[in-house]
This record gives sequence, structure tokens and C-alpha cells, in this order.
Amino acid sequence: MKKRLTLKLTVFLLLFSGGCQLLAPPTNPHLLLGNPSDANESANNFLIEKPQYSLSYNRDRGTPNWVAWQLNNKWFGEVERQNDFDPDESLPATWYRVRPTDYTNSGYDRGHMTPSADRTATVEDNQATFLMTNIVPQTPKNNRGAWKNLEEYSRELVKAGKELYIYAGVYGDKEKIGSNKQVVAPSYTWKIVVVFDRPGMGLRDISENTRIIAVDVPNRKNTSSDWERYLVSVDAIENKTGYDFLDRVSPAIQKAIESKIDSGESK
Ligand code: MN
Ligand code: MN
Repeated sequence: MKKRLTLKLTVFLLLFSGGCQLLAPPTNPHLLLGNPSDANESANNFLIEKPQYSLSYNRDRGTPNWVAWQLNNKWFGEVERQNDFDPDESLPATWYRVRPTDYTNSGYDRGHMTPSADRTATVEDNQATFLMTNIVPQTPKNNRGAWKNLEEYSRELVKAGKELYIYAGVYGDKEKIGSNKQVVAPSYTWKIVVVFDRPGMGLRDISENTRIIAVDVPNRKNTSSDWERYLVSVDAIENKTGYDFLDRVSPAIQKAIESKIDSGESK
């Protein structure tokens, strides 16, 4: 009798723990396709993972190197733009924490990598996009033109049922801004959008036909508002940044999809 009870209890516990694992949300979906710079604990390639996005922070630039986030319909809701730019208190205590005022009168916008409008399900999600570790100096023409237009096009894809994995980041040193010159304005802002046909698809669903939109947008006063003009291959961004995108995808498929250039909205 006692033995049977122990057996039943064991079976119950096994099923229960198995069930919990199935129910538990994935720890962090944003790096499904890989960590392009192998971000870790080093100061200029410092991995920060939040529920809303993952990023590689660069202490000496005072900006992220790149930010990665998943986008599907579940991230959309009714929350208003919170607009409460804040230093990121999660950075190591001895590091300078970039403040919103470091951008004041610099001629650059506080440019979101993960856009506010991509995180509207909860106030917490939206506020996370206003942390200064998600922000880079973007010229008004870049931020409010090509960059914004591709953000809007990406949300249209999601509203049409797609799921996106997005990487966005910077390279090049244009100038330092802020009274303490703690923040580097980049020469270019780049973005890679991997388009899945529907939510819940995974690594094994990536094929040579998977759509990838990649842009390399100059951070200038005269940047065009036409994002399609800045379409490039993933290979081109890998060459500029030294990162390896999609490194969790097989080399043969990477080779095929990273060399293509998307055809833009006409697609
Ligand atoms: Mn923006
Ligand atoms: Mn690659």
C-alpha cells in the first residue's frame, strides 16, 4: 500500500514538473536567432536582458551596440506613449549612467532602438523602451524619416499576422555629445528584420526563402525619408560591424539569405 502511494506520488510529481516546464514562458525570446557580438560581461559588449528586449551595451559609447527584440501581436495594446526617459539603473554601479539631458541641445533626437509603439501591452513594457540603454543619438531626419517609416512598415507586417525578430544598432563615431561628452553619435544606424509567416515559428522554420529586410541608414542632416533607398544585405552589415547575425541558423542557409537584398514594400 505504501509503495503504491509513493509510486503514485512520483508519477504525479513527474507529470506536474513536466507540465510546469511546458507552461513556463520561454525565458527570453529576443535572442532566438543568436547573440551577434557574443555580448557578455565586458564593458563595451555588455549583455543586458530585459523582458522587453535584449541588448549589448557599450559603456564608452554610452549607447547600445545593438538591441534585439521579438515583435508579434501580443506586444501590442492600448498603453499610451509614456515619454519618461530615464537612466538605466541596472548598469553596474560604478559606470556613468547616461541621462536624458545628455542629449539636450545636441542636435540629435533621443532615438529609440526598440520603438515605444512596439511595446504598448503594459505600462511597464512601454517604460522599458524609454531607458537610456535603448536610446542612441539619431539625427531628426534619420529618426523621424527612414527609421520611423521602416518601424511603421514593420508593425504593418505584424498586424497582417507576421512575427518579426529585429536587431537594430550603430556603428561609426561621428561626434561626442553632452556636457560631459559621454555619448557617441554614430555615423550609421542599421536594422535587420527577420520575417516569419506566423507567430510561434522557430529556428527550424528558417529557409532560403525567409524574408529579411536589412537597412544601413546614414545618421546625417540630409538622410532621406525613403528607407528602401538604404536596403542592403545582412552580409554588408556583418562586414561593417564585425558581428555574425543568425549564427544559430545553419551556415548554408545563412549564406543564402544573408547575401540577398530585399525588394522593399513592393514585395
Ligand atoms: Mn525613433
Ligand atoms: Mn551570419
